[in-house]
Amino acid sequence: MEVRIKLQYDDSRVKNWRQFATSLAMVITLLLPFTAVLPGAQSHSEVVVCIGNPLAADRWLVEEWRQELGRIVESSGRELRIADCDEPGAMQVYFMRIHPFENSALGAARTRGEVVLPLLELYTEPVAAMLGTRLPGVLGRALARVTAHEMAHYLRQETHHEAAGAFAAQYTAGLLRAARPAYFALR
Ligand SMILES: [Zn+2]
Repeated sequence: MEVRIKLQYDDSRVKNWRQFATSLAMVITLLLPFTAVLPGAQSHSEVVVCIGNPLAADRWLVEEWRQELGRIVESSGRELRIADCDEPGAMQVYFMRIHPFENSALGAARTRGEVVLPLLELYTEPVAAMLGTRLPGVLGRALARVTAHEMAHYLRQETHHEAAGAFAAQYTAGLLRAARPAYFALR
């Protein structure tokens, strides 16, 4: 499934989306691959990530996110480096409230045609609703796991999903809370 959205959001529209209710319906949620800059010049052992909108994200949340993403990348035999977004080849991560059209989406990688771009979005509202908490330690870790999933879309240049595992289209709250970092290792 591919969903395309405009690169620029109209903030006033986003604010109008209804709030999430924590319900059983939230237990299983779609992860969308949907948008794509050509694979950058990163060395194979290094994964370079930048935060596209650092002022929009809570500092402690970002710190927990960074630590867990580091563990995931490490378990993949690679090394995470947080860079500035003007660095060529850096995967840009945006912390957003909610996808404007797919309000159950936890994250997305943008695509252009068949190409997956290094533009990744994380949707904090649906992830928090699914987890039932906004505690940075829990939410940040879960967002790192969603990030790893979206990174895999880019690194593999694949928009489809596998039937099960970290590259499946749907996650459970339990998976985002309890699975070990290595479960989300980049392959
Ligand atoms: Zn996906």
